[in-house]
Amino acid sequence: MKKITLGISSCLLGETVRYDGGHKRDRFLTDTLGQYVRYVPICPEVECGLPVPRESMRLEGDPGSPRLVTSRTKQDMTDRMIRWAEKRVVEIEEEDLCGFIFKSDSPSSGMERVSVYNEKGMAVKKGIGMFARIFMEHFPLLPVEDEGRLHDPALRENLIERIFTLKRWREVMTKKESWGNVVDFHTKHKLLILSHSPKHYQTMGKLVAKAKELSIKELYQQYQTILMETLQLKTTSKKNANVLQHMMGYFKEQLSADEKQELLEVIDSYRQEYIPLIVPITLIQHYVRKYNQPYLKQQVYLNPHPLELQLRNHV
Ligand code: SF4
Repeated sequence: MKKITLGISSCLLGETVRYDGGHKRDRFLTDTLGQYVRYVPICPEVECGLPVPRESMRLEGDPGSPRLVTSRTKQDMTDRMIRWAEKRVVEIEEEDLCGFIFKSDSPSSGMERVSVYNEKGMAVKKGIGMFARIFMEHFPLLPVEDEGRLHDPALRENLIERIFTLKRWREVMTKKESWGNVVDFHTKHKLLILSHSPKHYQTMGKLVAKAKELSIKELYQQYQTILMETLQLKTTSKKNANVLQHMMGYFKEQLSADEKQELLEVIDSYRQEYIPLIVPITLIQHYVRKYNQPYLKQQVYLNPHPLELQLRNHV
């Protein structure tokens, strides 16, 4: 797989673009995820023409449509930022981004819970950074997160799973359009989809089953929309345990009573959150290899992202 292209707030890469001339380098993003990713850094405040260093800014007014204002001298930067952002998001279409990682709490780049101040100087954490809002409205299906939320292992796993899946889907889209390519992609991602939402799993199964009733363009468009909506839904230990038990069913004939008992116990310990998901997954991978199980061998669920990212090892 070629490197995944992700947009990112420039200061998270260590670029000294913050109002005070500093940065907010995030080692996980630069050193770990960075091995698999080509970043497209964007600093809205610098790109819209503001210097470094500069006066800090904040959101003020109605949390639903706040103004972007400098904190001390109260210069209103809203129109300048909106003009630049609306043009920039159109240019970004060329980059074929698979997602964006925003700097949390920033009045320009924060994707949620950004402070918005009223005229008395009181803040509510209900705002969205001005560039982040325009970006998310322009690319509603793209996976996005901020670096603060990525410290939560479950959210980190979810984002990484989404961007790797979107990358695989984009590779399908670079091939000649065909119903067969969608069916093949769907077949390999079935259990991954099931781990996010049994309901969407049914819906997508029906969509693929009636694929030939749709024009190829409609099929691609509908499939991509439901795929991204599905992966946004979080997996849980209960949903994953159901998938693991479903996989166990493929070894009915091969496993001894003892082996079945052991696997059931491991799945149950995972369901109760005593052990991480990587433990039952590793055991099942062992049986998939040992018995050369053809359907499970191709399931992305068993290997959705590089092991080096050390996901699925939290409880
Ligand atoms: S948070 Fe956004 S606007 Fe602020 S320095 Fe970082 S990239 Fe630039």
